[in-house]
Amino acid sequence: MSKNIKSMTQPEIAGVLKELGQPGFRAKQVYTWLHKGVKSYEEMTNLPKDLRLLLAEKYPIYAPRVVRKQESQKDGTIKYLWQLADGNCVETVLMRYHYGNTVCISSEVGCLMGCAFCASTLGGLIRRLEPHEMLDQVLFTQIDSGLPISHIVLMGIGEPLDNFDNVMRFLELVNSPEGMNISMRHISLSTCGLVPKIDELAKRKLQLTLSVSLHAPNDEVRNTIMPVNKAYPTEALLAACRRYYEQTSRRISFEYAMIDGVNDTVEHAKELIRRLKGLPAHFNLIPLNHVEESPLKPSTRNAVARFQKTLEDGGITATVRRTLGGDIDASCGQLRRKYQKEKIDADAHL
Ligand code: SAH
Repeated sequence: MSKNIKSMTQPEIAGVLKELGQPGFRAKQVYTWLHKGVKSYEEMTNLPKDLRLLLAEKYPIYAPRVVRKQESQKDGTIKYLWQLADGNCVETVLMRYHYGNTVCISSEVGCLMGCAFCASTLGGLIRRLEPHEMLDQVLFTQIDSGLPISHIVLMGIGEPLDNFDNVMRFLELVNSPEGMNISMRHISLSTCGLVPKIDELAKRKLQLTLSVSLHAPNDEVRNTIMPVNKAYPTEALLAACRRYYEQTSRRISFEYAMIDGVNDTVEHAKELIRRLKGLPAHFNLIPLNHVEESPLKPSTRNAVARFQKTLEDGGITATVRRTLGGDIDASCGQLRRKYQKEKIDADAHL
């Protein structure tokens, strides 16, 4: 378990304070301050000075530093590149929807999963994020932007279910009434399809939305773009989705990046209808964001419209995701990657 005080629950902080000989009511004070995004114990003005000094020494806190901030001129989307305590960087995107301000946060530095279309995985996995490093993305995006955050999507860099325990703890923290108090119903967690972890998540019966990055109707196509499909083929994945629905009664949201000539024909849509029969589902069709390093191209507008209509005619609701922040490298991993490349170029010139 992380030693970082910001990754601790309120009872755990109470335990720490008890060991320091402090009265019980201090735990709530400390927890509340931490979840307001204070940058140092100095700001915890209702704590005695000697306790502030002691905590600063034993449980140092750190606020991530903004290394890049890009704001879309078109739609107000803001993208942050944060530097963590160890120097690694992760991205967070703030999107302004009619139903509320939504942050898309990263769960890992890099990613192990190797999807062919994704910029986040190009340099592999560096490390998994601690719970407080996910919380900090929400907190400090809210503080820096001055915009209240009501919704969270775990759709940034990394595979959340590959960092299961830390993600579960993050959810507990961000959902806590004395913390940011963000409703589980306002949280979406996206996975490339780690079947055993989907089952583990189902057991918790959380009210969040599970998004599954399907991107293909069958193994033949999925194997070519998502290596994880070799471990958990579509049949096993869809069976896990059905179990998830049975356990939680929560409709699954499927993500489907539309790739020209790869997964976007009417026949592919019909195959999805057949294979998803009886499973309440919603499809988010996302025209592929072009990644420099990949030869894959987005589907044409016509192909996307045809695909959507075929799904809808087959009884599956499907929306085409509005692309936000196209002018600011807002899709997964692009900003971090650019920054890394610039650093390498700059270092080469030293
Ligand atoms: N690892 C998790 C969450 C992170 S990615 C997952 O796989 O679901 C969030 C979503 O963006 C996933 O559906 C992912 O497949 C998709 N994605 C990644 N790169 C993309 C690209 N270039 N264009 C469109 N969608 C992309």
